[in-house]
Amino acid sequence: MAERTLSIIKPDAVSKGVIGKIVDRFESNDLRIAAMKKVQLSRAMAEQFYAIHRERPFFGELVGFMTSGPVVVMVLEGDNAVAKNRELMGATNPKEAAAGTIRADFAESIDANAVHGSDSAENAALEISQFFAEFEIL
Ligand code: ATP
Ligand code: MG
Repeated sequence: MAERTLSIIKPDAVSKGVIGKIVDRFESNDLRIAAMKKVQLSRAMAEQFYAIHRERPFFGELVGFMTSGPVVVMVLEGDNAVAKNRELMGATNPKEAAAGTIRADFAESIDANAVHGSDSAENAALEISQFFAEFEIL
């Protein structure tokens, strides 16, 4: 069943110049780019986006990192998009990420881990609505 998920190319990958290489992973695996833009997150936006982690010890660092430079936000669409994107991303800690995944190939550390992907269809809908109006998703 066609599904949507939110993907973010994080500041480390944007500054490394691998936006195109990461987008290619999605397009080569039947995830269509339904929406895409480059944005600089404000502190408030990043705090809202990662609100679920507010009580975690790494929350301050996470928000600091996500606001350290521009990010590319995308809506990916395709069969089982949420799970497929998570599979292509690899584990949160790039040192544990399977060979050939985006994080294994482009990420340095658990903080600077190249990409975000929604973890459920429900959260995907919430996250997409934080960044895109329906008329921008094509
Ligand atoms: P994301 O939500 O960014 O796609 P994820 O779903 O793989 O990543 P989460 O558990 O949602 O992982 O954590 C969100 C982010 O917080 C991670 O991407 C990572 O940068 C950071 N993070 C998670 N766990 C830790 C940790 N133990 N130490 C430091 N940073 C962490
Ligand atoms: Mg997550």
